[in-house]
Amino acid sequence: LPAIIAKVYLVGAGPGDPELLTQKAARLLQNTDIVLHDSLVSREVLDLITPNAEIIDVGKRAGQKLLTQDEINSLLVSYAVQNKMVVRLKGGDPTIFGRAGEELDALRRANVPYEIVPGVTAATAAAAAAGISLTDRRAASQVLLTTFSRGENGKQMDWGAVTSTTSLVLYMPGAEYAEVSARLRDGGLPADLPCAIVSAASGARQMVRWSNISRLATEAKLPAPALLIVGRVAAQRAHEISEQAWAALDESPPAASTTRWI
Ligand code: SAH
Repeated sequence: LPAIIAKVYLVGAGPGDPELLTQKAARLLQNTDIVLHDSLVSREVLDLITPNAEIIDVGKRAGQKLLTQDEINSLLVSYAVQNKMVVRLKGGDPTIFGRAGEELDALRRANVPYEIVPGVTAATAAAAAAGISLTDRRAASQVLLTTFSRGENGKQMDWGAVTSTTSLVLYMPGAEYAEVSARLRDGGLPADLPCAIVSAASGARQMVRWSNISRLATEAKLPAPALLIVGRVAAQRAHEISEQAWAALDESPPAASTTRWI
C-alpha cells in the first residue's frame, strides 16, 4: 500500500441550521476532496461544500439503503488510500446514533488517520427549540440519550436506571406513537409524565408538541426527523416542573436521587 497522507474527518453537520455548524466543519467542507453524507444533512449545509469536491449521498431514502455500512467503510478507506481528503458528514454529532464506531474500527484496521469533529446533536437542538433545560437543579440531574432497542429483543427496555430525575431523549421514536407510549409505560414511567415531540429542530419547519406519556398514544404524527424529550423538564410551563411533575410521580420528592422506576 502507498503511504497514506490523507485523512478521514468524521464531521458533525449539526441539526440543520447551517449557523449551528462548527467553524471547523465549515472550513473542512470548503477544503475537502470528497464528502460522503447521510440523508439527514440539510440542503443548506450541503450548499457550503466546495464545488471542487465530489459529493456522495450514502444515506437511506424511504427506507431503502443506498449503500451498506460495509460499503461505506470500504469507500472511506479506499479514498484515503488514494491520498484524498475525505469528509464523512453526519447529521447532528457523528458519535450519537451515527454508526461512527463501525467506521472508526474500519479506519483503525486500515491504519488510516482520522479525526472526529463534533456537532450539535439533535437532543440539544430539540431542547433549544422547545425552550427546555435538559438538566435542572429542581427536576433533572441526568440526561439519557437513547433509542428503542431493535431486533429480537426489541420489546425489552434496556435503559438501565431511569430515575425520577432523568431527562430521557428518545431518538428515532418511529411513527407509531401508541407503541412508543406503551413502551415508555412498560419501562415504568408514569402515564402523566410530560413529554415534548420536537420535529425538524433548528430548521424552517421546526415544530414542538407538548404532551404526556398517555396522551402521546393519540397524538398526530409530526414529520421526520423528530425526537421525544420525556421527563419533568418537558412540562410546558416552568412552574409545572415543581408542581404537576411531582404529582405525576404520586410520591413526595425523594431524599436521595436513586429512586428507580424500573
Ligand atoms: N447523529 C444524529 C442522530 C442520528 S439518528 C445526531 O447527533 O443528532 C436520527 C434521529 O435523530 C432522527 O430519527 C431523529 O430522532 C433525530 N434527529 C436528527 N435531527 C433532528 C432534528 N433536526 N430535529 C429533531 N430530531 C432530529
